[in-house]
Amino acid sequence: MCGIAGYLGPKPADSVLIVALERLKYRGYDSAGLAVMSDGEIHLRRAAGKLKQLSDLIEAQPVDGHCGIAHTRWATHGAPTEINCHPHLASGGPYDGRIAVVHNGIIENHEQLRRELTQAGAIFRSETDTEVIPQLIAHHYRGDALAAVRAAVARLEGSFAFAVVFADHPRRIVAVRQGSPLLVGKGRAYDAGEPAAEGSTASFAKAGRTSVREMLLASDVPALLPHAHQVCFLADGQIADLTDQGLALSDFAGQPVEAEFKAIEVTAEAVSKGSFDSFMAKEIAEQPAVLARLLDSRLRGGALVEPDLGLDLASVNHVVFLAAGTSWHAALLGKRFLEQLARIHVEVDISSEYRYRNPVASGNTLVVAISQSGETADTLAGLRLARAKFIPVVGLVNTVTSTIARESNGVMPLLAGPEIGVASTKAYTAQVLALYLFALQVARAKGLLDAAAEAQAVAAARALPELAATTLASAEEPVEEAADIFAAAQATVFLGRGGEHPTALEGALKLKELAYVHAVGYPAGEFKHGPIALVTSHLPVICLCPRDALYEKMLSNLQEVRARAGRVIAVGQGGDRALRDLSDHLFPVARAGEDLLQPLLSVLPLQRYAYHVARRRNCDVDQPRNLAKSVTVE
Ligand code: GLU
Repeated sequence: MCGIAGYLGPKPADSVLIVALERLKYRGYDSAGLAVMSDGEIHLRRAAGKLKQLSDLIEAQPVDGHCGIAHTRWATHGAPTEINCHPHLASGGPYDGRIAVVHNGIIENHEQLRRELTQAGAIFRSETDTEVIPQLIAHHYRGDALAAVRAAVARLEGSFAFAVVFADHPRRIVAVRQGSPLLVGKGRAYDAGEPAAEGSTASFAKAGRTSVREMLLASDVPALLPHAHQVCFLADGQIADLTDQGLALSDFAGQPVEAEFKAIEVTAEAVSKGSFDSFMAKEIAEQPAVLARLLDSRLRGGALVEPDLGLDLASVNHVVFLAAGTSWHAALLGKRFLEQLARIHVEVDISSEYRYRNPVASGNTLVVAISQSGETADTLAGLRLARAKFIPVVGLVNTVTSTIARESNGVMPLLAGPEIGVASTKAYTAQVLALYLFALQVARAKGLLDAAAEAQAVAAARALPELAATTLASAEEPVEEAADIFAAAQATVFLGRGGEHPTALEGALKLKELAYVHAVGYPAGEFKHGPIALVTSHLPVICLCPRDALYEKMLSNLQEVRARAGRVIAVGQGGDRALRDLSDHLFPVARAGEDLLQPLLSVLPLQRYAYHVARRRNCDVDQPRNLAKSVTVE
């Protein structure tokens, strides 16, 4: 994971880079650091812990320079200590301290390289895999920065994006992409001949520069804001050379590649918290609007507008969903939708399992890869495996410029806007709705959806934004009350049947990742086959009991918990007297016009419950410990 950033322009690099890291910290926050070029030297500032530690350090020890690279880390190799913070330097040879690197990804052959380089005189100072990169570049460096980087990448195995600066080239950043995302932004002060941009510092003017090309580098678009207005997405196997002359792109063999820039569409507002105390709170509240936007893009009047996936959906008779984490829960619902509506056989695979088990491909299989970021390494690897077996892939992603989107045959965008809170909320409900619309599309292609059924399904979907808003409003007070009572509980169980089984899994995952409470979700009918032994008067059991076909069965499960003195929190309809009488607490949810869509509403109070329990336990809801948002490592 990790986020990397770079800046070359007229402004003070440290302050631009800190803002960029602020926007990348969802990718990792174990430590942060930057390297700024000044007076022909590389100046490092690095601090373990959250970004605040680094900004405090920079405030105490500012560094005056206009070119630099930066990093926010999610540790894979080596503890999150200061010594393991990026940037890492070449050390021990003639270029000791004169080459610095920030890296996202894993260098799989780092041990072998470390041995070789140590023998050649390099001195290693950290436990990271990353440190082999500056050492290897230094090993090949004879004054030509690009030649040294090319020679180094020829030896690196694994997946990576990295940026490197050389003390010998104080106005240059070289960056490489091979498996991890990397983009170059053109700053507003880019165009040649423009006077040095607004915000240029006196020291920059003193250096005699009157015009400049302002270039930025980052793992993700939000980090380019507010300085850049255009972006170029690097492809795997490309090297970017950023200088005052602009961007020169080449492949690993040194052949020039044309750089394609396009306008940045994300606004600074979309990546700020606004009036909310956290991104998570903002993103939960945005859900009605997110659902409405997705529906607007996919419905015209009472009918479905089908995105062109470039596939013959009528001939598909087997679908495999690939997903990880919360997306996997959405996939479980996708299976129900496709089976019910399109009557096709569906498998739901965890991406990291699929890719290592030599899956069987039949002639009419379709793979659907689900990933909010579109960069999830395991899902991307599963996609590539499927494509290598000539299985067509549809990508369901929020970031349409992502690698998964680019490598899929067809793309279904979520249109949820940037999701920055590490625990997914709005992307989940958007995924569920998008999968429902996809199932309708497949059903129509197969002739299984008549006009009346389509109109009914569309009407049920159309009602969702308002029902979501009502649910969020009406559940808030009971959710807060329950969070007050159960914030100290050491474990929580979530039970649901049918479509609410994925909701139970998702509710448990939210509580685990945000509040660090051990939580499990079970299909309610399975509970008696073992886990019911956990029930005591201290155990909150959250039972998902909408008035659907399995309602009576759920009430029996709820009674079983009560009979053993468990504490029951029911999620169901507010007017359901029977349910209210049987539970200690009731989180009211609106009733969806179509049973298949009910889980999309039932999950809303569970998101808020995890949020409130986390707050009461003093957990950072936007940056839960040990996690990072887009998991771009295996
Ligand atoms: N492997 C590097 C480290 O541990 C980078 C990790 C990452 O990109 O997540 O520092």
